[in-house]
Amino acid sequence: QAKEALGGNIRVFEEHMLRDFDDRKALEHDLREALARNEFELLYQAQVDIKTLELRGLEALSRWNHPSRGIISPNLFIPLAEGMGLIGQLGKLVLESACKEAMRWKRPLKVSVNISPLQLLERGFAESVAKILHETGLPPKRLELEITETVLLEDRDGAVAVVSDLRSLGLTVALDDFGTGYSSLAILRDIPFDTLKLDKSFVRDIATNDLAATLVRLVVDIGSRLGKTVIVEGVETRAQHEKILQIGGLLSQGFLFARPARSEKLAFLRDDEQSAGLIEDFAH
Ligand code: C2E
Ligand code: MG
Ligand code: MG
Ligand code: MG
Repeated sequence: QAKEALGGNIRVFEEHMLRDFDDRKALEHDLREALARNEFELLYQAQVDIKTLELRGLEALSRWNHPSRGIISPNLFIPLAEGMGLIGQLGKLVLESACKEAMRWKRPLKVSVNISPLQLLERGFAESVAKILHETGLPPKRLELEITETVLLEDRDGAVAVVSDLRSLGLTVALDDFGTGYSSLAILRDIPFDTLKLDKSFVRDIATNDLAATLVRLVVDIGSRLGKTVIVEGVETRAQHEKILQIGGLLSQGFLFARPARSEKLAFLRDDEQSAGLIEDFAH
């Protein structure tokens, strides 16, 4: 049932399922209602130290629980919201929920929230983040905002300025999906970010392909030399995990360690004494 809402496991309504124009119009109409009624839910996926399996933080991943279509993927509704000029409003809702939720956790873990380029570049974005931090009481150092390099294509100087403003609030900024865009090296130079998230497409073949492994090694090395925290995304198998251990990667996020799940399902967020902050489900 959709109740489990585990990311990746169940069928999620994706872009290619939008058959025609009428369908899109209908969905746009529903999205407005969804915002008013808040039909969105956040799942959380662990980011772990690949050696010790200690938790470093959790990434918040949005789902839209559509009353008749079921769970809709962010890959579909985020672009839809962007196109409708609603991403600022939706993004605020997401950020607010994530900060509130993180305040309920028994451990002072970091929460990472995805920010779309249009949202980041909206006037007053950094101020709105400061307001949410203030209102929820979440210490800024417990918040990481994930942005992608596509933001540079929109407005390079604007993006650099906002990122600097955000970091001066005391939060950290991650560069998401690194390696998939057009300006990888320029962005390393220009954007003052803290964390580099290597896209999952680079991890897929590392256990079987030397070239793929070398590329990951290089990026981990570049990130480390630049003083960034490097997170390797999309680790699904033991073989990939072994390889990353060899390579010397530090942090990782992937289905092998934990799938995105509802906050209340994550025991390590509830029971302070019992768990050492390790991923307990990871028992092979
Ligand atoms: P992302 O930020 O790169 O998030 C990681 C995506 O990879 C998530 O997909 C996650 O479920 C998936 N993933 C994690 N580990 C693995 C793995 O081992 N293998 C595979 N194949 N996939 C893995 P999800 O939740 O469907 O989100 C897709 C994208 O939607 C996110 O990619 C992010 O760009 C965007 N997104 C999600 N929530 C939000 C949001 O609240 N706001 C914005 N602006 N974008 C969001
Ligand atoms: Mg992300
Ligand atoms: Mg990513
Ligand atoms: Mg992505």
